Amino acid sequence: MPELPEVENIRIGLEKYLKGHSIKSVEVLNRRIFQGDEKKLIDAKFESAERFGKMIAINFNNGFSLLAHVKLTGQFIYRGPNLPNPPELSVKVTDGLGGKHTHVVFHLNRGGVLYYNDIRKFGWIKVVETKKLKNEAVSKLGPEPLKDLTLNLFTKTLSSSKRAVKVILMDQSKISGIGNIYANDALWLSQIAPTRSSQSLSEKEIKTLYKAIKKVLREGLKQGGASELAFVTPDGTEGKYQDHTLVYGREGELCKRCKKAKIKKIFLSGRGTYFCPNCQYD
Ligand SMILES: [Zn+2]
Repeated sequence: MPELPEVENIRIGLEKYLKGHSIKSVEVLNRRIFQGDEKKLIDAKFESAERFGKMIAINFNNGFSLLAHVKLTGQFIYRGPNLPNPPELSVKVTDGLGGKHTHVVFHLNRGGVLYYNDIRKFGWIKVVETKKLKNEAVSKLGPEPLKDLTLNLFTKTLSSSKRAVKVILMDQSKISGIGNIYANDALWLSQIAPTRSSQSLSEKEIKTLYKAIKKVLREGLKQGGASELAFVTPDGTEGKYQDHTLVYGREGELCKRCKKAKIKKIFLSGRGTYFCPNCQYD
């Protein structure tokens, strides 16, 4: 599932491509995915794109916003005048734009079009009043590592639970934006075994992990996100973090740090968990 770096890259793309556009019409092909009254958006001019954890809000100048969650395989892809030489679409855009996986089409003025594709159809887009956005989006989210998660708060969160540290990192109500890829990589970078009880981490380990989380998320942002499953940015191309993961997806490969052991894969709370049995400590 897209995590903070991926969703932030979607936000950056939307902000760039929707600039100067207003909505002419909305073609809703799947009512379960698009919720609310699309007529409220007609002639509304794009103002900004915001991110709340893994959710994106597209704000318009008439007091309405679109709140969206791409979940596993949602894709926002733009074609039009703000992208004069569009790159070739990634193969992850299965069946192309306007194909059988396109569920919503936003026709913009000046000839722009924004497509929402979703193979698995777990994603959603809602029309909401901009002033109610924060209630809808933020109320259940924990602080963000690159925004408001302080070391103090992080320490409190970890030391108040006996659950596995990796599970805590991925709990969006405790900390928002970290999913499986970056949780695996941050723990490897910190030399902490993912199965460790969160309570057992020393002050020094907590500090190391805190820094490592920021580092892997920034690297993910820089690489345009990780294109696992169906992630593409709004220009229709893939991110590159998957080629730069530290431990995620590297089962059987020699550990990049100690070079003494092969990366192991286990399942923790149902999610693939990768670690070095030699240099990540229990
Ligand atoms: Zn190692």
